[in-house]
Amino acid sequence: MSAIELHARRSDGFDARVANAVALLRSAARDHEGRVVQATSLGAEDMVVTDMISRHDLPIAVATLDTRLLHAQTLALIPAIKRRYRIDVERFSPRDETVVHFVRANGERAMFQSVELRKACCAVRKLEPLSRMLERRSAWITGMRREQSANRGAVAFSEPDAEGRAKFNPLADWTLADVWHYIAANEVPYHALHDQFYPSIGCAPCTRAIAAGEDLRSGRWWWEQEKTKECGLHLRDRSTRPGQASGAQA
Ligand code: SF4
Repeated sequence: MSAIELHARRSDGFDARVANAVALLRSAARDHEGRVVQATSLGAEDMVVTDMISRHDLPIAVATLDTRLLHAQTLALIPAIKRRYRIDVERFSPRDETVVHFVRANGERAMFQSVELRKACCAVRKLEPLSRMLERRSAWITGMRREQSANRGAVAFSEPDAEGRAKFNPLADWTLADVWHYIAANEVPYHALHDQFYPSIGCAPCTRAIAAGEDLRSGRWWWEQEKTKECGLHLRDRSTRPGQASGAQA
């Protein structure tokens, strides 16, 4: 059964939620002209946002973090976006020397050894490249939704990030059914693993399929307690900043 067959449902208020999301993107593009970027994980929610940016011809850059540990199906969406929307997705990767140093010090499977090392890996592979993605930008856009997990229950439509930049979450009030209804109705390209029970997809070592009834993000860092399960990209007070990563590597 495909993700569309499993999840896509049109519910009351869908058109209003789409209109609100587009209005938020439009105001972000206007208020942060030339300095706003969509940080896409290439997951379902982010593909919806990219579709809206393209459909409404909004001057918003689209960029992704290529941690060098992504599934091939994730990377395949970059040329798919180019073909479908004529958008070049900017790629930000960790610095080779930092990754080599981290792996030499901690091993390929450091993320499974402790929460501290898992966060240090996220700092090297995600937070430092994110800081470069956001350089000279005053605003960024995510596909975060309140429904995704207990940690995301308070997601606002707009909020300052840890550095004081504007961060917009146009799908904050969307349901999973909304996301998949939008994808089906607009024939949005989506990640092949979503059809294999991967609702939330990150790096390959840290992502697995989920079983029926499990929390939507239970396939991410499944060996950790719920309260630690964020990579730091979306914390308002990032406890593990890129500059702190080297200390955590030892
Ligand atoms: S999600 Fe896993 S592999 Fe990816 S950066 Fe974080 S700890 Fe490392």
